[in-house]
Amino acid sequence: MNIGQEVLALLKEEIKEIEYNRYIKNLVYDAKRSTTDLAIFYAPNALVSNWIKSKYTDKIKHLFEIKNNPKVNVKITLKNSAFKTKKQKIEQKTQIHSLLNPSHTFNNFMVGGSNQFAYSAVKSVSEKAGELYNPLFIYGGVGLGKTHLMQAAGNIFQNQEKIVIYTTVEQFLNDFIRHVRNKTMDRFQEKYRQCDVLLIDDIQFLSNKEGIQEEFFHTFEALKGAGKQIILTADQHPKKIAGLKERLQSRFEHGLVADIQPPELETKIAIIKNKCEINKVVLTNDIINYIATVIENNVREIEGILSKLHAYSQLMHVDIDLEFVKNVLKDQIQENRANLTLDIITKSVAKNLNIKPSEICSKGRSKNLVYARRISIYLCRELTQNTMPQLAQYFGMKDHTAISHTLKKINFLLENDEDFKVKIKELTNKITSLS
Ligand code: ADP
Ligand code: MG
Repeated sequence: MNIGQEVLALLKEEIKEIEYNRYIKNLVYDAKRSTTDLAIFYAPNALVSNWIKSKYTDKIKHLFEIKNNPKVNVKITLKNSAFKTKKQKIEQKTQIHSLLNPSHTFNNFMVGGSNQFAYSAVKSVSEKAGELYNPLFIYGGVGLGKTHLMQAAGNIFQNQEKIVIYTTVEQFLNDFIRHVRNKTMDRFQEKYRQCDVLLIDDIQFLSNKEGIQEEFFHTFEALKGAGKQIILTADQHPKKIAGLKERLQSRFEHGLVADIQPPELETKIAIIKNKCEINKVVLTNDIINYIATVIENNVREIEGILSKLHAYSQLMHVDIDLEFVKNVLKDQIQENRANLTLDIITKSVAKNLNIKPSEICSKGRSKNLVYARRISIYLCRELTQNTMPQLAQYFGMKDHTAISHTLKKINFLLENDEDFKVKIKELTNKITSLS
């Protein structure tokens, strides 16, 4: 029996049985946390706890004295709230639930030229919160690992007992609306200003939402002023996010802006190998190389394919060989592109460049038209199965050499003009998302 239990046994003899059974019986002594100065008992609920505090504390103290423990203070408390850390208390009070995916770690992130810069930036920020780049702004296309990297830092901070808020703009907005509706904006502000690290994903969705931009600006200023780390992601450079207030734009650029590019072949191969290992899928190098070449630039898509392959092979009891993979991927690639027609592509290029679709296939030679026509030809060649003669016919050109000439021009620009490359990538994304 430990000293706490001995004291309770003595108390049992001193008080009425009914009182003992009702109040004291369920009291638990915490031998681990108690010291010679402090005796801790847990009560099952607040009612019992208050009752014991007011009625029995002195008695219990006295019994400790009898047991040669004269200096002890007695603490009666509720089990669950007894020793919450400051972090847990704040989290409970503000209802912060950071849903970080624990497998989003730096170890699980394959690094290559395409993401080296962003990786290093996030990694070094995770080692020195608030001191290096604040805010850190990561941008890049869909499925390239922005959320993964941001959460990898979040996981590190969380292990350091820091209060981390991870949220998407959408959740932030919903939270904001809820607090406005309930007239509890003070709680909203307290919540977002009390954290040590704020991670906000997909900042582009702030676009054209003035109310939330305003609120976010104040949160941002408060945290930044207090030296708290902020990490943001978006699909574009802050400058290119339309409908974003100038002062937010400039704040976002103020720390470090790092981009993630689509993975190059070696990185894709490393990622596939890593995912296979994690998911216990065995693939030959041939197959890995094939997947890496066919899937252009979306890591999420690679993951989808691996689980598809895994599922197929399990359900159909076949080993995964190259033929099988080609078959599975054929559907996937066709699925992605099948619905795209020349009309759809030219229409969306025209819309994007503010000209009439009919003009693209006309003989017009104005600079704008030629530019739009060249881009359309390039995208039609990239995104459909049409041959060069078919394209020549569609665009009203003499023959396939005119098409090939155009493609060469565009490829030259892609290699030498970064802005142009970005523009084409955006257009491609827009168009493929139509299918
Ligand atoms: P984004 O937020 O940029 O759209 P995610 O971070 O959600 O992309 O990444 C999509 C998926 O691809 C995630 O499951 C992520 O773990 C994985 N992924 C992306 N890049 C890498 C990488 N370099 N190494 C390993 N996994 C990656
Ligand atoms: Mg993301």
